[in-house]
Amino acid sequence: MKMLSVNPFTEEITHEFDMFGVEQVDEAVQRAEEALLRWKARSVPDRVEIFKRVAADLRQHKRKYGEIITREMGKPIKQAVSEVEKCAWVCDYYVEHAARFLQPESIKTDAAKSTVYFEPLGIILGIMPWNFPFWQVFRFAVPAMAAGNVCLLKHASNVPLAALEIEKIFTSAGMPTGVFQTLLIDAGSATRLIEEGKVAGVSLTGSLVAGSRVGEAAGRNIKKLVLELGGSDPFIVLDDADLSKAAEVGMAARALNTGQSCIAAKRFIVMDSVVEEFQVKFLEYLRMLHVGNPMDEDTDIGPLAKSEFVEDLNVQLQDAIDKGATIFYGSKPPEGKGFFFQPAVLVNVKADMKVAQEEVFGPLAPIVVVKDEEEAVAWANATKFGLGASIWSRDVERAVRLAQRIQSGFVAINDMVKSDPRLPFGGIKKSGMGRELSHYGLKEFVNIKTVVVN
Ligand code: NAP
Repeated sequence: MKMLSVNPFTEEITHEFDMFGVEQVDEAVQRAEEALLRWKARSVPDRVEIFKRVAADLRQHKRKYGEIITREMGKPIKQAVSEVEKCAWVCDYYVEHAARFLQPESIKTDAAKSTVYFEPLGIILGIMPWNFPFWQVFRFAVPAMAAGNVCLLKHASNVPLAALEIEKIFTSAGMPTGVFQTLLIDAGSATRLIEEGKVAGVSLTGSLVAGSRVGEAAGRNIKKLVLELGGSDPFIVLDDADLSKAAEVGMAARALNTGQSCIAAKRFIVMDSVVEEFQVKFLEYLRMLHVGNPMDEDTDIGPLAKSEFVEDLNVQLQDAIDKGATIFYGSKPPEGKGFFFQPAVLVNVKADMKVAQEEVFGPLAPIVVVKDEEEAVAWANATKFGLGASIWSRDVERAVRLAQRIQSGFVAINDMVKSDPRLPFGGIKKSGMGRELSHYGLKEFVNIKTVVVN
């Protein structure tokens, strides 16, 4: 079986790789087991020392790694380079804080001494998506390894080059053999690893369907699980919002990564007294988006990562039009090859449309009109997802009050939702379980062990 790297702009197959056979996978697991014994015995400062070299390498070669990302999944190059820089940031963060976060905690009880220790769980399998092919892996693996675990990566099948390059980055920074390994495997082999005894935990970032399948296997086998799944984030514009800023940031939040981000603003919920003005400004920003070759520095919107995603978006768009929505287009994609979808805004959006009910993974922005805060909250929460949300108002207290009523793991007020190594990140409802980043993320894959002395 082959794994293909296809350039979404040229539609060419650029690389082909043989997938790992059962024996190759089992050898990797064996190496991971052996590495674990030595890796967990090292001190935390000793472990994170390697991440200093990883960060330096990422910064030095950000253009090279950015180009790998862009060629393989079509992200505009300036965003791909920023993604690589962000991976260096997450390394810096855990270099600075991991030892403190993992310090044993003394707790006063009736016993002479009660202490909580944070010990690694073992081999952690990361099942990762293609949309941020470097960031998602670093976000999961750096804290997991800092805590003394070893990692196996099953990356999305369309980004094998990125997957192999990440392993090389860790290896050339001095990561001991077996601590981080990329496996070129399919979903079935990943499930087999979860079913078998040696993997202690699984971190999956991906779709709801993948999350529930992997969750089923992890649950059956009592494996620790973190799920970072899809979203349909509301972007709420109240009647006292700075409309120019909201429109500008809103379009950026929708267009980032050509709309293929879990925390993209996916439903624009705008109060009726300001909707006309917001819409005019929003459309201005839509028209400014430059659609084209993702390797060009001035490109904002590249091709989608796979050809079938264009079809998926067209189905959602047609459904909205059939049910009465009106469409406004932005700039046209170039003629010829490439998995392009022309960015668009939809108005007259109703609750029964697919764009209101499903995750919209591309540059298509539905606007919903509401009469007051009550209706805005009802719309915001009328989704199976609960990842992020954005609220716009000049009255910060009002926005904070509203934030308490939004069912999500993150609310950004007067900004777009962005992950940050210092802050916990994750969702509720069908957006997942557990958290990544910050000290919360670091402690997902540890045994929180209590030792009581009497
Ligand atoms: P996907 O199709 O679910 O794939 C994600 C990963 O899961 C891939 O490695 C995939 O492997 C694997 N996978 C799929 N089905 C599996 C199964 N039954 N058993 C084991 N592994 C399985 O998602 P995607 O298209 O790559 O990514 C887009 C989705 O990820 C969106 O829904 C997005 O919102 C979500 N996402 C969430 C976050 C977050 O932080 N919450 C961040 C980024 C993306 P194959 O490629 O081999 O199928």
